[in-house]
Formats: sequence, structure tokens, C-alpha cells
Amino acid sequence: TPEMTGDFATLMTWVDKFRKLKVRTNADTPKDSKTAREFGAEGIGLCRTEHMFFEADRIAAVREMILAEDVEGRKKALVKILPMQKGDFLGIFREMKGLPVTIRLLDPPLHEFLPHEDKDIDELAKTMGVTPKTLKNKVEYLHEFNPMLGHRGCRLGLTFPEIYDMQVQAIMEAACELVKNEGFDIVPEIMIPLVAVDKELKTLRENAITVCEEVIGRYGIKVEYLIGTMIELPRAALTADEIALEAEFFSFGTNDLTQTTFGLSRDDAGKFLPFYVESGLLEDDPFVSLDQNGVGQLVKIACEKGRATRPHIKLGICGEHGGDPASVIFCHKIGLDYVSCSPFRVPIARLAAAHAALMDK
Ligand code: PEP
Ligand code: MG
Repeated sequence: TPEMTGDFATLMTWVDKFRKLKVRTNADTPKDSKTAREFGAEGIGLCRTEHMFFEADRIAAVREMILAEDVEGRKKALVKILPMQKGDFLGIFREMKGLPVTIRLLDPPLHEFLPHEDKDIDELAKTMGVTPKTLKNKVEYLHEFNPMLGHRGCRLGLTFPEIYDMQVQAIMEAACELVKNEGFDIVPEIMIPLVAVDKELKTLRENAITVCEEVIGRYGIKVEYLIGTMIELPRAALTADEIALEAEFFSFGTNDLTQTTFGLSRDDAGKFLPFYVESGLLEDDPFVSLDQNGVGQLVKIACEKGRATRPHIKLGICGEHGGDPASVIFCHKIGLDYVSCSPFRVPIARLAAAHAALMDK
């Protein structure tokens, strides 16, 4: 078990006295949440919801939703997913015992969900009452050449508002149930991914508030919630003052921010980045250690602009860099509130955060 005992546990209690940065974790399951808590995570900074849509008991309904003819068809399919999604959040909230949890609404490229094998298409066509040919055409139409720059993130929430509405409903019903029946004190943090333009966030925030208020009213209790966004595109960083009007928190998605700032595909860069590092063109792999020049500039600008609009805006990082010591030190220097990293990196981040604080003395 990852339990921390003995001298190491003592060292970590000292470490925690010094650090200013909070350390959260990236976790999508109760199991990962538990591991992270045992390692000292003080909340979840990123709960990615996409894997939940791939699970065997719901992928058929997800495909039905994407390929449906109209809103009614989409809603019919989403009703099947709602109780499962609510169960996902109940499990995570329970495991985190009232610590903050940031849930990111669906992000992956739409095409990743599509069926490609004939037998899957035939089966789905039968359920949906259409011909396999019709479905095949739709699948082909939805194909993307650059999926990482395509129909993903908040673009999904704008073109298919029913998806985000269902997720927000599931988050708030789970939170309200725990507050009402189990005495929890929860303030869910709802996070919108891949925002580039303030209007995207304005629309999605309004939609989310409508759903949250409907659920809270139905339970007849008082539950607070926060709505915020990821800053993971250069345009979002540069216009963070406008975006902060609609966001109670920012979380830096430095994986995408690195990809889009360098114009380097995060899925393909492994083929040539080692050459760059070996030959000194780059000091480090920017997907591992935050590039403190270009990408770091954008992060700093976004912090300043975000605070200019909303002085107490909560600021965190949830890209892989949140668990890299040099990047954690950078995050301390620019005054983020927390870093979020994978469960097994939580102790490393705690140490690095204390190291950064001691360097100030
Ligand atoms: C990021 O882009 O840094 C991020 C945390 O989101 P994802 O890795 O899921 O794109
Ligand atoms: Mg991202």
C-alpha cells in the first residue's frame, strides 16, 4: 500500500509546515482518489470525465447520443447515462470526504467515441431504427483530420449542450444528496475545458448555472458551487482578463498549452523531441518540465490578467507539470494556489513546494 510511515512520514509533516502551495491530485476514480489522499493530496484538481463515457455499460448510449438525428434523440440516450454518471461523482465525493473536487466536463475529440467496426455499426443502427448506411455516412462525416484542434473541449458543450447539462446535473445531484443525507460539506468545482473566447465560457456558465439552480431548488437545500475554466490555449491566456469575468477559478492545462504554444503535437512529439534535447535545441522536454520562457510567460500573463479582473481568483495547474519539481517551484514563484498531479507524484510535489518556500527565506 502507498501508506507513508516512519521517518518519511515525519519528514513530510515538516515539509507541510513550510509549503505555501496546496497539492491536489488528478484522479478520475474513487480508487485513485483514495491513493492520492493517502499520499497527502488536499483535493482533486482535475477529474477527467472522458473515461467514464467509454465504459462498457455506457459506450453504446454515448454513440447513440452522438449519432442521434436531433435533440430529442440525444436526450433519450443521455437519460441512460445520467444515473451512472451520478454514481461516478458520488463515489469520488465520498472518497474525498469534503475536500475540494474539480470536475472537468467532457473534453476528448468526438470521433474517439465513434464505432468503426461493421458489427458495431449494424447493432447501433438497429437500436436507433436507421439503416447502417445512414450511420456509416454520419461516422465518416464526423471524421477529423486534426482531432486535437477539432471538435473537443467546450466546443462539444456548445454544439451538444445536452451533454454538459447532463454532467452538471449529475455533479449537483451527487453533491446535494451527500449534503442532504450524509452531512457532507461540498463545494463542487465545475471546470470547462479548452476555452479560447470569453463568450464560449459565458454561454456555458449560464447553462451550468441554470442546471445547478434547478437541482438545488429540487433538493430544497443550500449548496455552493464554483464554475471555472482551464487556461490551455494561448488566446485564453492573453485574454484572461475577459475570461476571468466568467470564471471563479483558472486551472492551467499546460499539456495543451505547451502543445499549442510550440505548435507541437503532444501525441507525436516523442519521435523528434529527444533529438532536440540531445542536440541542445531545447534544454528539456517541454511536456515534462514547464517551458519557463514561452509557456511560462503565458501562464504569468494569465495570472496577472485574471487577478486584475478578479483579485481572489483561485489559480492552479493540472497539466503533467504539476508533478515536476522544477515546474512546481515555478508555480510557487508566480503565486499559484495549488498544483495538481497524478497520485504517485503527490509526495514529490509536496517536497518541491516546501523547497520553493524555503528558497524565499
Ligand atoms: C492539459 O491540457 O494540460 C490537461 C490537464 O488536460 P488534458 O491533458 O486532459 O488535455
Ligand atoms: Mg487539455
